Amino acid sequence: MHLPDLPFAPTLCLIGGHWVAAQSNDTLDLTNPSDGSGLAAIARGTSADIDTAVAAAHQARAGVWGKSTAAERGRILMRIGELVKENAETLALLEALDVGKPLTQAKNDVTALARYMEFYGGAADKVHGETIPYLDGYTVYTLREPFGVTGHIVPWNYPMQIIGRSVGAALAMGNACVLKPAEEACLTALAFADLAMQAGLPAGALNVVPGLGAEAGAALAGHADIQHISFTGSVNTGRLVQTAAAQNVIPVTLELGGKSPQLVFADANLDAALPFLVNAGIQNAGQTCSASSRILVERAVYDEVTTRMAAAYADMRAAPAIEDATLGPLISARQKDLVTDFLSKGADLNMAAQGQIATDAAGHYVAPTLFADVPPDHTLAQDEIFGPVQVLIPFDTEDEALQIANSTKYGLVASVWSQNGARQMRLAKKLNAGQVFLNNYGAGGGVELPFGGTGHSGHGREKGFEALFHFSQLKTVAALHG
Ligand code: NAD
Repeated sequence: MHLPDLPFAPTLCLIGGHWVAAQSNDTLDLTNPSDGSGLAAIARGTSADIDTAVAAAHQARAGVWGKSTAAERGRILMRIGELVKENAETLALLEALDVGKPLTQAKNDVTALARYMEFYGGAADKVHGETIPYLDGYTVYTLREPFGVTGHIVPWNYPMQIIGRSVGAALAMGNACVLKPAEEACLTALAFADLAMQAGLPAGALNVVPGLGAEAGAALAGHADIQHISFTGSVNTGRLVQTAAAQNVIPVTLELGGKSPQLVFADANLDAALPFLVNAGIQNAGQTCSASSRILVERAVYDEVTTRMAAAYADMRAAPAIEDATLGPLISARQKDLVTDFLSKGADLNMAAQGQIATDAAGHYVAPTLFADVPPDHTLAQDEIFGPVQVLIPFDTEDEALQIANSTKYGLVASVWSQNGARQMRLAKKLNAGQVFLNNYGAGGGVELPFGGTGHSGHGREKGFEALFHFSQLKTVAALHG
């Protein structure tokens, strides 16, 4: 399937308000994960383009953008949100073709992007400092100020949502941004930047440089003239980004994925829980940092949950994104190899059910797979798979469930399914996770809800009002006036 007509050329970068070719004049090829066909060529930006983009961002900070009021920034963000909604069909189609994401899920991502713009647009002029009572003769107050130029390195799995939550919050606080989208999927990043320009975002406030991670990404992370870097992706790359940022002593937000558990107790409402147990693992073919890949079930209801989840898996089809099945392909041959390797490591486990690949298309499909009775220390129960694979683990007591839940190096999201209020409160405090859901999972995306990890899931918080504090710094002013 061909790309829709676009008002920008995908082969270009957006720098200082102009669409320009990468200085190398080189391009990279995007493929459609659903059938392996060529989709578009994108710019292969390198450190030279990152230099220009960072300089353009500083110019924006010194110019109109730097002088804008919070209310003006808020209005621009809300206009971007309106344009995102007006262009929802095109954005969803681009994301479906580029990421291999079923169309309905791509549409949900567009809704989330628009919502981020509304939320951060509305919040831009509601963030302020405070006065602090101090010694007699003093007046002390704080100012919330932007960092300056912020870098944003974004992965391929949820480009629109991740751009919305990090770039949206950074712009709201008056930072100028340099965005490096993923080389596997970057069309909606370019489309978003185009809409932002149409909405009146001043030149240089948002710059987009596509390119390879080791080239454009590394150049951005290690750039001496950025003041903050936000990264979402793998643990290994996160380490490199943090190391690079340390050389320039700038703050880093890292969002690195997880092995998020759902704890199902015998008193849970299983009818309510079942769709969440399955969907939270299978959405976007499991390529979700907050995917729930471990389902811990109290033994009294373990057989029932296993049987019901297995039935859901048996009905699942993986098909091209445009067919809008439960799941599409994985992003790349490399990702398929990684997931297939995990499946082979589970060859001795009890496979409770497997769905079907319902297409002959030459895409990167993996059949959704459910394993039962998985030992908690098995690699399939410990390591992030980033594919449509879930494991079921039985437990006998609340303490055992907690111990298993907290036994991985990650800590992003967890949920508790139980009618027992005291148990919910106890576990919400004790679970290692940045978000805990009680009798739900994910709260429908929750633009308003602070999000981020502990341990190898990363640090810092995006989403919600909290992100505005993470994309700004506090200055204390103490006046001695007698
Ligand atoms: P990755 O970390 O390599 O890529 C993420 C982003 O970082 C991309 O934009 C990439 O170009 C950039 N990047 C790569 N190398 C870089 C470097 N040296 N310096 C700066 N930026 C660099 O992730 P991946 O290879 O696309 O995926 C591999 C694994 O990462 C997946 O299997 C999954 O476990 C994890 N992942 C997690 C998330 C998440 O949302 N937490 C998203 C995507 C991938």
